Amino acid sequence: MRRVVDNKKSTKIIKAAKCVLVGGVNSPVRSFSYVGGDPIPIYSGRGSRICDYDHNWYIDYVLSYGALILGHTRPEVMQSIKQTADLGVGFGATHKLEVELAERIKAAIPLLKKIRFVSSGTEAVMGAVRLARGVTGRSKIIKFERSYHGHADYLLKKAGSGLATMELPLSKGVPKSLLQDTIIARYGDRNEIDKIFAKFGPDIAAILVEPVGGNDGVVLPDKNFLKILRRITKRYGTLLIFDEVITGFRFHFGSAAAYFGIRPDIICLGKIIGGGLPIGAYGGSKRVMDQLAPLGGVYQASTFAGNPVVMSAGLSTLKVLASSRRDYRRLDRLALYLSRAVLEEARKQRIDLSIRQFKGIFSIHFKKKSHFKVFYRELLNAGVYLAPSEHESNFISFAHTKKDIDKTIGIAKKALCLLK
Ligand SMILES: *Cc1c(COP(=O)(O)O)cnc(C)c1O
Repeated sequence: MRRVVDNKKSTKIIKAAKCVLVGGVNSPVRSFSYVGGDPIPIYSGRGSRICDYDHNWYIDYVLSYGALILGHTRPEVMQSIKQTADLGVGFGATHKLEVELAERIKAAIPLLKKIRFVSSGTEAVMGAVRLARGVTGRSKIIKFERSYHGHADYLLKKAGSGLATMELPLSKGVPKSLLQDTIIARYGDRNEIDKIFAKFGPDIAAILVEPVGGNDGVVLPDKNFLKILRRITKRYGTLLIFDEVITGFRFHFGSAAAYFGIRPDIICLGKIIGGGLPIGAYGGSKRVMDQLAPLGGVYQASTFAGNPVVMSAGLSTLKVLASSRRDYRRLDRLALYLSRAVLEEARKQRIDLSIRQFKGIFSIHFKKKSHFKVFYRELLNAGVYLAPSEHESNFISFAHTKKDIDKTIGIAKKALCLLK
């Protein structure tokens, strides 16, 4: 992999971006505030690689923050996007592709009897929480420290992802009154959950949880704890919401809920199911979902929801995934292989580093924060694009090859040498 030799065009674009976009980005996680320096604008992508405006190629482990499980510009997906767009890019009316995508998701996640599409994971979670409150007639919700569920006001306390990266315990601009019904708990702390329910149980509408945490690096799942959440929510008539915006279709062709053998009341989806285009979705039983307008009194609307171009990208992605569902294991193997090799090298070099890996996702954590910065810059310069914060996850796609991983390992080993 050749070193980054030129960055003239990138520098120019970012300079202009900073004049018209806040910090030069449209989402704070894209800034390089954690690793220092300017972010690199990306021109194109193909398979496991992305290319900047100066023709430097990178092996990509960000993959549009987990949306691109098939890698960049997968031909089947591109073709369906183009064909659909040729017929018109949106009508604000029901489209057959919405039905087909919903049917396909339902076939893979049977507990989703009905689905509502929206345009982002944020909206999916907001809709799900409003629905849970509407169904139960209760106000309080429980969320866990350092989980991220999108940028709704009442969920931005002790959140993961960009807020954790910026060490912000709470976003400014969120009125205290909007947080009074948000109870923050620690993931895995069973006693705390018991105490919260003992105190507030009959007022708790929902528990919101990422079944595998993806927004404070990878947070390894605690299956037993998830089961405890299911049990206690049943006992109190509280709804259990799995935020599977990252985990849906990530580890196998279906939900993480099914993988753990748990049946939540509502599942939120996003990222992968849009094939790289903006999407969110939530679903559950008929009884719960039919409380939504137009059938029920819980209101949630959207101009762009179910957009046909988005639906076609999602549908063709799920079609490819369904026909290559056995290959998920390859993703797991590659992530494990990468993690083990980097860990072993770190041990040899006596660098204090840990890797949290679950199936095809992983995050690298250094004891010294300055080490992450140096490591990150070295990898970037040598052509490996990781998420620019220890609080984000990295992803392996179906397009990644053993060769990609071997290259990455070689580059990582050299970078570790520099940390000694
Ligand atoms: C990305 C993410 C969201 C928010 O999705 P957006 O599409 O960015 O609004 C919500 N929950 C989880 C677990 C996520 O990873």
